[in-house]
Amino acid sequence: MSTLADLHFDNRFAALGDTFSSKVLPDPLHNPRLVVCSEDALRLLDLDPAEARDPLFTELFSGHKLWSSAEPRAMIYSGHQFGAYNPQLGDGRGLLLGEAVNQAGEHWDLHLKGAGSTPYSRMGDGRAVLRSSIREFLASEALHALGIPSSRALCVTVGDNPVYREREERGAMLLRLARSHIRFGHFEYFYYTRKHNELRQLLDFTLDTCYPDCRNQPEPELAMFRSVLQRTAEMIAHWQAWGFCHGVMNTDNMSILGITFDFGPYAFLDAFDARHVCNHSDHEGRYAFHRQPMIAQWNLACLAQALTPFIAVDALKAELAQFMPTFEQHYLTLMRRRLGWGDARLEDAEQLDALLQLMQTSGADYHLTLRKLAEDNPLVRDQFIDRNAFDNWYREHQRRCQASPAARQAANPLYVLRNYLAQNAIAAAEQDDFDEVRHLHHILRRPFEPQPGADAYAATPPDWGRHLEISCSS
Ligand code: AMP
Ligand code: MG
Ligand code: MG
Repeated sequence: MSTLADLHFDNRFAALGDTFSSKVLPDPLHNPRLVVCSEDALRLLDLDPAEARDPLFTELFSGHKLWSSAEPRAMIYSGHQFGAYNPQLGDGRGLLLGEAVNQAGEHWDLHLKGAGSTPYSRMGDGRAVLRSSIREFLASEALHALGIPSSRALCVTVGDNPVYREREERGAMLLRLARSHIRFGHFEYFYYTRKHNELRQLLDFTLDTCYPDCRNQPEPELAMFRSVLQRTAEMIAHWQAWGFCHGVMNTDNMSILGITFDFGPYAFLDAFDARHVCNHSDHEGRYAFHRQPMIAQWNLACLAQALTPFIAVDALKAELAQFMPTFEQHYLTLMRRRLGWGDARLEDAEQLDALLQLMQTSGADYHLTLRKLAEDNPLVRDQFIDRNAFDNWYREHQRRCQASPAARQAANPLYVLRNYLAQNAIAAAEQDDFDEVRHLHHILRRPFEPQPGADAYAATPPDWGRHLEISCSS
């Protein structure tokens, strides 16, 4: 175990210099308090949970203190937002504090979100509000617990700084951890500004730091693109299988590592609705739940375009054509596991579709239905309007279902980060009561196991919690 003070940094991205990022110091929060901390994330840095009680912890993660070997940097990138190219984005309200190296030799980016304005803030104030910081914290750790590839969250701090959105709110900071913060948009920035030497440098950096194995392939650049595509397909398969809607799948929010990244107005489904749009600002439904695989492929095509100076177009196209089959294969594997179906069969996709169709027409709760199926609970029938159709589906399911109830329950969460649960925790936190955020985080760490006294957290949303409007402004 290490202590906070002697965290070791090796700032490889900062060493790329000023073409890739700008030096900026965090603008501290006034009167900072620790809202919540993830022990699991602390362990990634070999830090003892007790470290969170050290006042230094809150000081470091609210921008008051810095390690002498940290080199805070705002990264530059661009990206396609809602289908349109935005030539300059960049870290407008977050800083890469540095790359901490743990005892296993892994580099972890420490990114402080809400750290004040940077050269890339454009019209923004560089701040993050408490509600969005809590939402990102809970989602990062909940997705990880479900096995969904994701960036992680170490902690949230809050201060007295007033931050103006639709109303006055308070400034907060989230400490995000990821093995890399390179996004598709990083490559797009250097491609569209025609800085091909820098693009090459970024590509080499990404190969060396994220995809070293690709160096041994005959065409390392193409091998890297293939890996990014495969990881992205696998990530999207997880989103679809666990009912997760990201909400802002812009290319600047797509990680080069294929991990879920930049949480905004995301939502886990409640009642199954393939066309669900979780982002209140997404008027066209571009990022609707059922469109996520197609959008991911579109985003990969944007990345491919940015790599055309170094990879043949035909080769990139051939890789892109592998996206949907790769996604489908991962998705069916995950769903077979959730349903306890044994061997793969040709009719699986159709059988699964039939269930989703029944859920759609009945407005059945996605998670509860799957959990009750895993429990062989006859009450599952109550989720459906057309009981005969469900009974027919269920007979087929029973013929297929081979896994033990225990194995199936271990693949179907009881506790899911529904929007209304996050909302309850946020409402309390805004009144300076952080117990609910901490408690919810604690429950979501073990989403598959029944936990004493936690029945309420397994419930479907109350009326007020069904159609919460969450938008980008955070
Ligand atoms: P997002 O929608 O969170 O992915 O952000 C898109 C872009 O807007 C990124 O470049 C962010 O850094 C920037 N941005 C978002 N909110 C703010 C803010 N409050 N102040 C400055 N920049 C922001
Ligand atoms: Mg973003
Ligand atoms: Mg964001």
